[in-house]
Amino acid sequence: VRTANKIAAGEVIINPASVIKELLENSIDAQSNTITIEIIKGGKELISITDNGIGIPAKDVKLAFQRHTTSKISKVEDLEKINTLGFRGEALASIAAISKVKMTTREKDQESGVFISIQGGKVVKEQELGCPRGTNIKVEDIFYNTPARYKYLKKDSIESGYIGQIVEKIALSHPEISFRFINNDKQVFHTPGNNDLFSCIYSIFGKNFAHDLIEINYTNDPLRIKGFIGKPGLSRSNRNRQIFYINQRYVQSKILSQALEDAYKGLIMVHKFPVAIFNIELPPEMLDVNVHPAKTQIRFQNESLIYLLTKQALSDRLKTTSL
Ligand code: ADP
Ligand code: MG
Repeated sequence: VRTANKIAAGEVIINPASVIKELLENSIDAQSNTITIEIIKGGKELISITDNGIGIPAKDVKLAFQRHTTSKISKVEDLEKINTLGFRGEALASIAAISKVKMTTREKDQESGVFISIQGGKVVKEQELGCPRGTNIKVEDIFYNTPARYKYLKKDSIESGYIGQIVEKIALSHPEISFRFINNDKQVFHTPGNNDLFSCIYSIFGKNFAHDLIEINYTNDPLRIKGFIGKPGLSRSNRNRQIFYINQRYVQSKILSQALEDAYKGLIMVHKFPVAIFNIELPPEMLDVNVHPAKTQIRFQNESLIYLLTKQALSDRLKTTSL
């Protein structure tokens, strides 16, 4: 079983950033409205996520760390209409197999919570204790028992860069949740959680960046685009500020980058890559999100339609901007 866990962990857990992505998705699925992320040494020494969500029932805590156990699907039919981020029930098992995990969790109407400590997939302690409502999970010494994989981690600053990018993207896709990100005891950002995308962007990327954005709010059935794009001139030397969501879920999409960049063709740009942060709402049958376990790759049923509609929406918006 331990070997199986370690192998399967390779699918989704490749670095501290992927641990954080899975844990944040769990906190979001648990209906939290404040989430704090702390990392030490690029997440190699410590990743700590604290949420104020629904918590885990005491009797289920151990179970949550077993493979293929999820509270999110009870019937096979549920697979067809998944609206939670996680559903495979693999993340906690995978993470616990390759690190030292400590969790405290309490359901809101329970007097006490549970503390559990797991190392390399083995429960070393479990006890009842008093704790705040919600869940705190600490992941220490990632890959301590798989040195070959530890060796492939990059230096701390690079790993924390990866983490920062994931945390930013998740925070931006949930402006209704207040996220606090702390790196080596220093606060990096703190989003207000007031469900306003603009103030969320402002708190993450700062005033100058936010003020050079134009709002886009476009509907052309069945597609709806909402968010912000950069004024022409606001551009980057890479695509790291091209942030796309489909139905509120972060995705990587060459087609969307292409549509964005083509919409700016002919406009004056300092760098090559326009910035954008927007969500596209689409009927789920127009896409297939489950291409990869990490779920950021996306496939559209009709790529060229999405390309055309998106490019059209953006170039229309750019035309009506007074520059
Ligand atoms: P999945 O998210 O696919 O269900 P995970 O391994 O990520 O699988 O989590 C297993 C289970 O643990 C979840 O189904 C959920 O019931 C519980 N869980 C994990 N993290 C949290 C959290 N932060 N708050 C409440 N429940 C959680
Ligand atoms: Mg999960």
